[in-house]
Amino acid sequence: MLDTDAPADVDRHPKEEPTTPPKSPHSKHITLTTYPGQSGIDPVPLQWGAPDAKSRGPIIVSRHPSMLKRRNAMGAHGGSYSIYNALAIAAGDLPTDFRPDFTNTEPTFKFPWQPSWADPTKIVSLDPYGHDIVAQFKDYLDAGWDIRPTMAVTRANMKLAEIEKAVSEGKLAVDGNIVVDETGEVRVTKVAVEPVWYLPGVAARFGVDEGTLRRTLFEQTGGSYPELITRPDLKVFLPPIGGMTVYIFGPPERVSDENVRLALRIHDECNGSDVFQSDICTCRPYLAFGIQEAVREAQNGGSGVVIYFRKEGRALGEVVKYLVYNARKRGGDTADKYFTRTENIAGVRDMRFQALMPDILHWLGIKKIDRMLSMSNMNILSEMIPKDSRVEIDAKINAGYFTTGKQYTMEELAQIKGRGWEKWEDVTSLIDAIGIGYY
Ligand SMILES: [Zn+2]
Repeated sequence: MLDTDAPADVDRHPKEEPTTPPKSPHSKHITLTTYPGQSGIDPVPLQWGAPDAKSRGPIIVSRHPSMLKRRNAMGAHGGSYSIYNALAIAAGDLPTDFRPDFTNTEPTFKFPWQPSWADPTKIVSLDPYGHDIVAQFKDYLDAGWDIRPTMAVTRANMKLAEIEKAVSEGKLAVDGNIVVDETGEVRVTKVAVEPVWYLPGVAARFGVDEGTLRRTLFEQTGGSYPELITRPDLKVFLPPIGGMTVYIFGPPERVSDENVRLALRIHDECNGSDVFQSDICTCRPYLAFGIQEAVREAQNGGSGVVIYFRKEGRALGEVVKYLVYNARKRGGDTADKYFTRTENIAGVRDMRFQALMPDILHWLGIKKIDRMLSMSNMNILSEMIPKDSRVEIDAKINAGYFTTGKQYTMEELAQIKGRGWEKWEDVTSLIDAIGIGYY
């Protein structure tokens, strides 16, 4: 934490000489990796797909000296935030032997056990018991073992400008329970999920052998996880990537109820549009439409679910995304070249790999989807679509993302042009003219 009130030169550890680096939280001996036959190596049994949490076993990933030999998984907790956890330890803000106090953190809704939780092929990229660690593995926690939830369930009220507008225009009713009031406040149950990969299952989803997956993960992360190679006996890996959040509208017990209708939106993160409403794409309108229709389904006695994956820019990231934007705008932004621009820069057009996406649906106990809130609903929300996003929509129609019944020729696609950068170029040349630097 930053001590903002204190002058910058005040030492936060006054007992130490200012020139003495903070005492290392580690021993002098660095454990580079471990081996299955090594003295004392005795992983706690972990049987992915076992019928219940206790027979499956806790996932133990901590590298604390007291845990190192009993670990049964690789990687670290927190997904991409595991790096910040390491920084906090390096900075001396967090002791390596810290144990969380989980009092009152239990889920606000107890999701019922599903047969898929015990199926090693149905769920391979999250821990189906990750939300229930405190109840299932209390004995371990009481004995001081470092075991942590990888899922959390809470509830909240949320507000969205589009929902408020729909309510004020009479398109969405205030029911006092799901839509709470005329300002469009909506009640929601939320589930946060961090990735937990069962490597044999992940490899199978991608049609590769486990060895190839392990070696590639090891080599392409700068050799960060040597146990991917040296510990073939460890089958579970907590990768340093983003997870997802499930937003459930209406009573959460309805999600797995086959007797009621389910409306579902699967949404991959697009921060620029989702949050900041930049107008080059359609992500926020689809997200808002998905929430609106999920709420409507819940009001009609069904269930509405929106699943938000942290896969920014088709999982290529914002840097690649902006490079693509530049190439599109400078190279003539037409629908026929939309995907080629991405392929030129990223090598592929998409890295979202929906092969792992269904796991969360299995976890929720979803067996059928009555309304998939996807791009095919475009006509319903045409008023919400930004003008400049036509290029993206028509390129996606042509690539088979969805269909409106119309087939485009490449010549027609070449005629669908995005807005140029005229206004921006004007600003740039104006700044150049008056000699002010810009960044
Ligand atoms: Zn977008």
